[in-house]
Amino acid sequence: MKIIIHGGFFSESDQSNEVKAAKQNSLKSIAEKAYQYLLTNSAVDTVAYAVSLLEDDELFNAGIGSQIQSDGIIRMSAALMDGETQKMSGVINIQDVKNPIFVAKELMKEDDRVLGGSGAKNYANEHGFEDFSTEIPQRIREYEAKLANGGKGTVGCVAIDKNGKLAVATSTGGKGFEIPGRISDSATVAGNYANEFCAVSCTGVGEDIVSNATSAKIVTRVTDGMTLQEAFNKTFTELKTIDGFAGAIAIDRDGNIFHQDSYPKMVFASFDGESFEVFE
Ligand code: ASP
Repeated sequence: MKIIIHGGFFSESDQSNEVKAAKQNSLKSIAEKAYQYLLTNSAVDTVAYAVSLLEDDELFNAGIGSQIQSDGIIRMSAALMDGETQKMSGVINIQDVKNPIFVAKELMKEDDRVLGGSGAKNYANEHGFEDFSTEIPQRIREYEAKLANGGKGTVGCVAIDKNGKLAVATSTGGKGFEIPGRISDSATVAGNYANEFCAVSCTGVGEDIVSNATSAKIVTRVTDGMTLQEAFNKTFTELKTIDGFAGAIAIDRDGNIFHQDSYPKMVFASFDGESFEVFE
């Protein structure tokens, strides 16, 4: 059993030692909580749980603390993929729910498993999700500064459970100040993908991640026999040719963990029940 989570990248305004330490502590404690949960739950339930904890932490750009789009509205996206069944579910540009990842999880049981915009919101309301504003003062200040003058931090989790099953979940408030209607990579197979061999979650510029098909490529390469390191190296070399900006976390079916980013640095933590690895 192993778990790795990410909290996106540092944005330029975020580089203080205080914020860094806060993110390290938070990621470490969420990785540990999620690992405890994994002891008695499946990989797919655990990745959704871990991502909900990250959504609830306003240090990260997902759920509470999400970025505001150019029209002043927060629209969030999240996806869940079960490596065993290869089912993916997700919400794209949903507004006013606390935990988009739990709406994605609810959609797992449907035939229509990825919903967008008002359809996603209506579905959430019909399934007991209450209205909740995820706006926080810090993001309003950033938005107002951009309005006057003119960041990043998606979250994700990959886990392997006691039965060797893999799953991935990813959630985002988007890249900030985007054109309303813009679709993030997080609820696509470029940003969030898993099968029985490998599971991958990405952060970075959604357009680059989609152009590079990052998660799907890494998973396919591992499925076809590459090691995680080989698959990451090849995929990130290709990302370089489009000057792409991305980071990714992964676990393969043998329980190997891997992470890489194109520009420093993605914030992440992993835990295997004995030791942590936390970004520095
Ligand atoms: N990948 C996200 C997006 O482009 C942003 C991020 O990772 O911070 O919507």
